[in-house]
Amino acid sequence: MLVIGGGAAALAAALEAAAAGARVRLLDAAPPPLLGGNTRHSRNFRYAHDAPNRYTPDAYPAAQFRADLLRASGGGADPRLLDTLVAQSRELPDWLLAQGVALQRPAQGPLPYSRRTAFFLGGGMAAVRALADRALALGVALMPGCRADALVRSGGCATAAQTAAGAMGAGAFVLACGGAHADPIRLARHWGQAAAGFINRGTPHVRGELLDWLLAAGAVAAGDRAGLYLVAVDARSPAADGGIVTRIRGMPLGIVVDCAGRRRHDEGADTASTRYARWGQRLAAYPAQTGWLVLDAAGLRAAPAALYPPIQAPSIAALAAATGVDAPGLAATVAAYNASIQPPADPLATADWCTVGLVPPKSAHARPIAEPPFAAYPMRPGVTFAHHGVAVDTRTRVAWADGGSVHNVFAAGMIMAANLIPQGYLSGLAVSISLVFGRIAGREAARAAGRAGGGAR
Ligand SMILES: Cc1cc2nc3c(=O)[nH]c(=O)nc-3n(C[C@H](O)[C@H](O)[C@H](O)COP(=O)(O)OP(=O)(O)OC[C@H]3O[C@@H](n4cnc5c(N)ncnc54)[C@H](O)[C@@H]3O)c2cc1C
Repeated sequence: MLVIGGGAAALAAALEAAAAGARVRLLDAAPPPLLGGNTRHSRNFRYAHDAPNRYTPDAYPAAQFRADLLRASGGGADPRLLDTLVAQSRELPDWLLAQGVALQRPAQGPLPYSRRTAFFLGGGMAAVRALADRALALGVALMPGCRADALVRSGGCATAAQTAAGAMGAGAFVLACGGAHADPIRLARHWGQAAAGFINRGTPHVRGELLDWLLAAGAVAAGDRAGLYLVAVDARSPAADGGIVTRIRGMPLGIVVDCAGRRRHDEGADTASTRYARWGQRLAAYPAQTGWLVLDAAGLRAAPAALYPPIQAPSIAALAAATGVDAPGLAATVAAYNASIQPPADPLATADWCTVGLVPPKSAHARPIAEPPFAAYPMRPGVTFAHHGVAVDTRTRVAWADGGSVHNVFAAGMIMAANLIPQGYLSGLAVSISLVFGRIAGREAARAAGRAGGGAR
């Protein structure tokens, strides 16, 4: 059988299929050092568990996982896939450990407290390496640097994948090649000019060729064609593959302005980790998709570490000159903001500082921007994944508009994640979806390849 992709979903599928006795070949469009797609950048995965264990403190009951995902997806998660995900997420830590993936012990590391997720020791890159090593040990043929452009179909079966090296035949196919978040043409189709202002946080190799092939062949679409999970990142980040370190946090500690120096949103309203995504979506509507987080020296001292140093200046006027933000606009915004701040009865209760009469308000953490030097981080929306893909059933069989036209094609990972997250997100969910449905797809495709009478090597 042929697995197309090289991230968590593809590697999980290849491992399960090889363990079931299938001969497996895995193609990844990325060159060898970049094998592993967006999974290289990931750090944690979400799973249900009833008691504290070596890798996760406290419990995260299945019912709560289910409720969290239903809420985050706006009720849009497919209930049968949701049940499958939650039930099979329980197995993930043990399965990963059995494949040689190391997990972080919470008490040992600098990672945030999380009872809902476990963290890879060494991050996603270490996990990908371990899974790839295990795949090689089981005899999987790994073919990095090989892109599949389409499948070849004969009647109700796919028979081969088209690649630059020629057609590669197989008895069953797992499409685990991510969504299509890195295709600039597709992004421009849905977002127009704004797409040019987006930065891709992840791999540039996920472009959606096979998603297009599936949909053109009559597969049922899932999710929202224009839906993107966007996160606020430093505008100086590389065009792709900057990873998690390019995130800008610290919005509650300052103000966020556009190029005219105007504030557009309440920076104090959201201090949860969801704020990165909120700001990612907001920045998409800013002129040139760019905003600046402006801090004073006190705010900068409290702000989380960032990859790039902030732009600093001794005065607000000099900061405007250094960033290109409109100087009178920024000066007026900072003056109006400072004048509207109402200290709480207990000035040490930093969260209780808020503005009065300011539009939009800053409803918490509204400390004056007064202490030089002043600092700014330029920000843009960072694309993480797309909320669009192909519909599948709980066995990862692709759903076809005519009820079943190509029956040896299975889809796992971000290519089908929109069945569960047509909108919204929860930390650690993407890797769990990729691993749970990758494993299912591997077992299903191994069976289908067996029925077809052979695999490919
Ligand atoms: C910066 C960043 C941090 C993240 N952190 C987390 C996290 O901590 N926890 C979490 O759960 N999620 C996280 N995510 C999301 C998560 O990593 C991914 O969504 C998930 O791992 C995707 O797994 P996947 O196997 O479906 O796809 P990917 O890992 O993206 O793999 C897709 C693979 O398919 C290959 N491919 C694509 N098209 C073709 C083709 N035509 N032919 C051959 N190969 C092809 C690509 O080269 C790639 O290797 C993060 C994403 C980013 C960008």
